[in-house]
Amino acid sequence: MAPDEPRSDCIFCGIVEHRLPAHVVYEDERCLAFLDLFPLTRGHLLVIPKHHVDRLKELEPGLYGPFLAAVSELCRRVERLAPDYNVAMNQGARAGQIVFHLHVHLIPRYDHGNPFAVAHRARLDDGDARELVKILSPPAGR
Ligand code: AMP
Ligand code: ZN
Repeated sequence: MAPDEPRSDCIFCGIVEHRLPAHVVYEDERCLAFLDLFPLTRGHLLVIPKHHVDRLKELEPGLYGPFLAAVSELCRRVERLAPDYNVAMNQGARAGQIVFHLHVHLIPRYDHGNPFAVAHRARLDDGDARELVKILSPPAGR
């Protein structure tokens, strides 16, 4: 199978193809961003290339620019929630990757606590998700 074909067994390909639901905050021709279903902090979101690759090293170089531009746009929007945030990528199971479709995490940080240490991650609340989509969807001003 070509690396960029949608995978029927991939959750994020399912979201790209609208087979699975997501709270989408950003979409362009090549990239998509949506709220993490089990957020580490309020507003935790994921930015993905629409084409399926499992790791950054597999990404077509032509997508480096568009992907980073989408991440950067979402960074500006995340600052509506918190001035500081993590931009993170897990590559491989030992590094904590559980969904093998390339994604960047944007994790707003509201205090000096360590959200990565939480034992239990609550599922995203649908009402709050709708509120977050309203906050995060409008494009960032330049
Ligand atoms: P990683 O550990 O880097 O692979 O992160 C995968 C992330 O995807 C986790 O933070 C999950 O909470 C999140 N996740 C899993 N399924 C979904 C889904 N259907 N919609 C949104 N986020 C998801
Ligand atoms: Zn995929």
